[in-house]
Amino acid sequence: MPELKQKNTSISTQALNTLVESYLHAPSPALAKTLHAILAEWESEQEQPLPPHILDKAVEQSPVAISITDLNANILYANGCFTEVTGYLPEEIVGKNESVLSYKSTPPEVYQELWQALMAKQRWSGVLVNKRKDESRYLAELCITPVLDSHGEPTHYLGIHRDITSVFALQQQVKNQKALIETVLDSIPAAMAVLDDERKVLLDNQAYRKLVGDLRGKEAAHLLLDEIGKEDAGFAALLERRQSFQDIEVSCVVREREEPRWFLLTGIWFREQASTADAFFSGEKVPYLLLVAQEITAQKQQQELIRRNAMRALMAEEERTQEVRETLAAAVYQLESPFNMLNAVLDMLQRREGSNAMDGTLLGVLGEVREQGLSTLKNLHNAIPNATATEPATLNLNRIVHDVLLVSTERLLSEGIVIDWQPVPTLPPLYGWEPKLRSMVKQLLDNAIEAISASDESRREILLQTSADEGWVCFSISDSGPGIPEALRLKVFEPFFSTRAPGGGRHTGMGLSLVQEVVNRHAGTIEIDPDYSDGCRVLIRFPVDKQ
Ligand code: FAD
Repeated sequence: MPELKQKNTSISTQALNTLVESYLHAPSPALAKTLHAILAEWESEQEQPLPPHILDKAVEQSPVAISITDLNANILYANGCFTEVTGYLPEEIVGKNESVLSYKSTPPEVYQELWQALMAKQRWSGVLVNKRKDESRYLAELCITPVLDSHGEPTHYLGIHRDITSVFALQQQVKNQKALIETVLDSIPAAMAVLDDERKVLLDNQAYRKLVGDLRGKEAAHLLLDEIGKEDAGFAALLERRQSFQDIEVSCVVREREEPRWFLLTGIWFREQASTADAFFSGEKVPYLLLVAQEITAQKQQQELIRRNAMRALMAEEERTQEVRETLAAAVYQLESPFNMLNAVLDMLQRREGSNAMDGTLLGVLGEVREQGLSTLKNLHNAIPNATATEPATLNLNRIVHDVLLVSTERLLSEGIVIDWQPVPTLPPLYGWEPKLRSMVKQLLDNAIEAISASDESRREILLQTSADEGWVCFSISDSGPGIPEALRLKVFEPFFSTRAPGGGRHTGMGLSLVQEVVNRHAGTIEIDPDYSDGCRVLIRFPVDKQ
């Protein structure tokens, strides 16, 4: 006889076996019906993967507080954890309303919302301020689900809640610390931002946000990093290696048609534990870049002002020295021709010596004159001041031209001359002497201004251009003056040659000859453009500094 092994039916195994044996000895329709019913119950139990008593135990032992209520929130069941959380034993709480847990400080709208959801047969979840049996307060994170019958109508409510008081306290602490950090960061005048690996800004301060506002929403961190990258080809590799950097000067145009603003940029890399699920066990760390941009525009402007003033003073000094040099050189030059004549007369008298007593006396006097003349010439030579000695360096011609234009602004304005300055944005460097190149540009600009002032031409324009051409740094200056006739285009570079009337102020005719000297000294070339017919255009080229 097969032994029936049933587990959880309402009849015991022993009773069932007795029933089966009775039926086998004396079968009856009533006994058959009873056994049928028991077997059907047994079979249905066998089909269920999880017997109901396991579910009961699971609910009872669950680590969250579980309660089941009727439709008026009267408690019908509460599990063990409910007792742990609330302090109420099942016999103390069953039959009472869930509202005994209310601390009465949760806003009424929350309860209204809760009940509206339940009435609409929907699940509700939220946070309530609860009180335990001992009247102490706690924060309950609660989820209430309507239990529906086979017609979809609610019969009960299932409430699951847990005490989140300490979690909330921790969240608050984190929030407070974040607020504290933000307050500290906002009080720092430098713009600060934390960027992730993909250059996304995760955290910033008020000064940074203001800078972004000035940039009309453009990401300031990207702009500044990109500007450094343009100046320093190795910077991208440095960032790639996650290498920190300090106090890099960088300028950027924040608003169009405004002077560029200057910043001192410092970048510090740090690593933090990743917050992805994978990182829970791997402990993976991700890099972040803390960027600090300290604005130094005011200091830079101050420095620039000092530099311009110093340069203005230096140029004025150089110009004065140059005038003295030119005047003395002209005086020596002028003295040399009568002196040569005197020498010739002396030679002649010496050859005739003795033929005439008068000649001897004259010879003596003229000899003395020559000695005095020689000594005067020597003194004049010695009095010619030397140009200030400077070391050659790698230079940017754009900057030199820009400086000269700055110091000449007042004069250009007073002469009503329009300047068109067209520098090529990236000009290769040249190697040379800054003061010499500056006086060269200044001389050419002065020549152009004077040419325009002396002409009746209504157009009063000077165009200055720089460009790069296969190993050469090119500079041209064109004016709308009368131009230089073809026959004189070489002669103008000779010393003491001037197209202007003699005695006209400071014109010694040395300007272009000195320009030529500077060009030669820099291994460059200079010419008056033969194809330019609207005035005069001087073309100059210098070899690029390959080093
Ligand atoms: P109440 O007088 O109970 O009601 C406040 C608002 O709810 C009123 O707007 C009222 O109209 C509405 N309301 C109340 N009962 C019903 C109802 N049966 N049908 C429709 N609207 C109704 N509250 C807690 O404070 N803490 C808990 O942990 C908590 N757990 C709950 C668990 C379950 C499963 C359920 C169903 C409810 C639970 N509640 C809980 C809600 C609780 O029943 C009370 O509604 C709440 O505590 C407010 O009580 P009260 O005495 O201040 O106001």
